[in-house]
Amino acid sequence: MAKEEYKGIWVFAEQQAGKLNGTVLEILAKAQELKAYTGEEITAVLLGKDVSSLAETLFAYGADAVLLAEDDALESYSARPYQAALTQLAEKYKPSILLYGATSLGRDLAPRMMVSLRTGLTADAIDLGFDEDGVFFQTTPAYGGSILAHIVILEARPQMATVRPMMFEPIQPREDAVGKLISETVTVEADPDYEVLSTAPKPDTGDAIEGAQLLVAGGRGIKSPEDMEQLRELAALLGGKLASSRPPVDNGWLSHDKQIGQSGTSVKPKYIFNIAISGSVQYQVGMQNAGCIISINHTKGAPIFDISHYGAVADYRTVVPALIAEIQKRKA
Ligand SMILES: Cc1cc2nc3c(=O)[nH]c(=O)nc-3n(C[C@H](O)[C@H](O)[C@H](O)COP(=O)(O)OP(=O)(O)OC[C@H]3O[C@@H](n4cnc5c(N)ncnc54)[C@H](O)[C@@H]3O)c2cc1C
Repeated sequence: MAKEEYKGIWVFAEQQAGKLNGTVLEILAKAQELKAYTGEEITAVLLGKDVSSLAETLFAYGADAVLLAEDDALESYSARPYQAALTQLAEKYKPSILLYGATSLGRDLAPRMMVSLRTGLTADAIDLGFDEDGVFFQTTPAYGGSILAHIVILEARPQMATVRPMMFEPIQPREDAVGKLISETVTVEADPDYEVLSTAPKPDTGDAIEGAQLLVAGGRGIKSPEDMEQLRELAALLGGKLASSRPPVDNGWLSHDKQIGQSGTSVKPKYIFNIAISGSVQYQVGMQNAGCIISINHTKGAPIFDISHYGAVADYRTVVPALIAEIQKRKA
């Protein structure tokens, strides 16, 4: 079939236990821009069981249509039933673009779909758009993050990508949004190889960096674990959490879930302090959408200053204790 016959922008509406993943709303926001360019309808594809009530949220956040397929075998995520259901829908409706969140679920499902639909997939896109020739591209760090590549899928359809969380801001929900709810029947069977016995939310340790409004992140320039603990103290005084670039995690000072960046977590706090972090591309892709970026580095030319709103060219060992003392004084 000619590629021109594929139409529509699809967003895989990942949900677990009836709760939409936040990345879905972020991708729906970006899809508005794609729609403004192509004029094609945005469809959220919702798989599960008893999840039709989520359609309203999807309409409010920008979906023109919701394609719903419900089945016992889709109640909780299982790769093969989800792959079978989505393949049937994509083969029937032939979307031009199919986007997933770069979540653990999306990263599992999307490559399977690439095989089912024999098309291309860009992993971990940080941006999407159309070039001057009207070709849809996906931006992703490549060659170890030393360049940002624009990847295009010229002939195969649908053009697919997983999109990193926290890259786009959801639109303001439209209160009176209406859309088309299309219910489809799919033929799927429960995966015979395994059964989900129970699911439990990840325990809340209180120090998660995703969703934190303020982060204090330390880098390789931090001289000791004791100094890192001082950053934790600063974060606590400011009502935030401690995070880091990769080297402190490699050193074993912090756990991997505190690492910001390409091979870590993407964050979008209102404020982020980067302390003794140079600002590699791999670090920046994980935090460049923060509201206010404040950096302390003793090297004037450190790339982190290029994206910072405020910066201090200074030794953190002078600035951090002074900041702590000043905050404590004002709080007293
Ligand atoms: C495939 C791949 C994935 C990667 N993923 C990630 C990722 O997810 N996250 C990540 O962070 N990195 C990642 N990296 C590593 C990345 O390339 C950089 O090596 C890393 O980000 C550097 O961390 P840094 O800025 O803390 O250290 P450096 O680049 O060494 O910078 C340290 C900074 O501290 C400053 N400094 C030193 N002493 C002081 C002082 N006393 N006071 C003030 N400033 C001081 C220095 O001027 C310097 O700018 C990845 C690399 C690859 C190849």
